[in-house]
Amino acid sequence: MHCYKKSERCYPDKYNELEHVGKWKLQYSKNQCGLVMDDLGGGNKMQAHGIRIYILDNGWLECDANWMVANTTVGTAVNPNPPSKWIKIPTYAVLIGHPQKGWILYDTGSHPDAMKGYWPAERQLLFPYYHTEQQLLVNQLASIGVVPNDIKTIVLSHGHPDHAGGLFLFKHADVYWSRADFDYAQELVHAQAGTPSIDYIKADVETPVKSIHYVTKDFELAPGVEVINLPGHTPDILGIVVHLQTGTYIFPMDAIYTARNYGPPVRLPGVVYDSLSFLDSVEKVRELAKRYNAKVMFAHDLDQFETFKLAPDFYE
Ligand SMILES: [Zn+2]
Repeated sequence: MHCYKKSERCYPDKYNELEHVGKWKLQYSKNQCGLVMDDLGGGNKMQAHGIRIYILDNGWLECDANWMVANTTVGTAVNPNPPSKWIKIPTYAVLIGHPQKGWILYDTGSHPDAMKGYWPAERQLLFPYYHTEQQLLVNQLASIGVVPNDIKTIVLSHGHPDHAGGLFLFKHADVYWSRADFDYAQELVHAQAGTPSIDYIKADVETPVKSIHYVTKDFELAPGVEVINLPGHTPDILGIVVHLQTGTYIFPMDAIYTARNYGPPVRLPGVVYDSLSFLDSVEKVRELAKRYNAKVMFAHDLDQFETFKLAPDFYE
């Protein structure tokens, strides 16, 4: 027997929402936090059966290493001007195949015309984007026989251009977006003073969609798929926790760029909206990873990315 959510967010009234989780028998337990999933098949796993994860390779960015991990190159008295390190970082989206909810797409990659003027020139210099034809989101989806119209549910980790650039393909979809990140994005792209934002692209964050569901707290999107708030990188990032048959996977997206940021000790990236929230969010992921014995899938870690199974292969 295993408690499904040992947190203050676990209430008995969640019971009814989850009582039809496939083979799982749900029970209410007063001496725990309310919701208990009893594995009828033995073991303590909590996965909803039949969920698949496909990792969609969206190409890569290049940038100074100090953006990923602050103070990667630091001058000293004997080496006052060390050369900066220019690195390659992967970008990807996650497609979840869910037996009840259908296709759920987590993030959408960069806009195909990013380097053809869709991104401001300054951003193209700081974070140039590269991709092969096959790495375009539509072609990644096609590799598993999916077209954008098949996908009715999008979860955006946040509105930055390497995550929200493919939103234009999903104007028919329900989009889950953090209220705080959405508001911040709108504020930046509509500000008249100063230089235009390079952190958010106006056309990305103004993409008309069927409906935007503003997320302010952790919730369960579908049995076995949780959406969690991880503020810090921006006012808020939506991470996802997916319980598969073979184990649990946590995608914190830009709340944790790389294994070096995760630590311990935690290392801040070069730009952070709120460093204290950032640290709390990393510890929240660490706590969830421990609770579920989960694997943490970092957002932009080339070494780890090279170990991922990529679409059309999948995790289940
Ligand atoms: Zn990113």
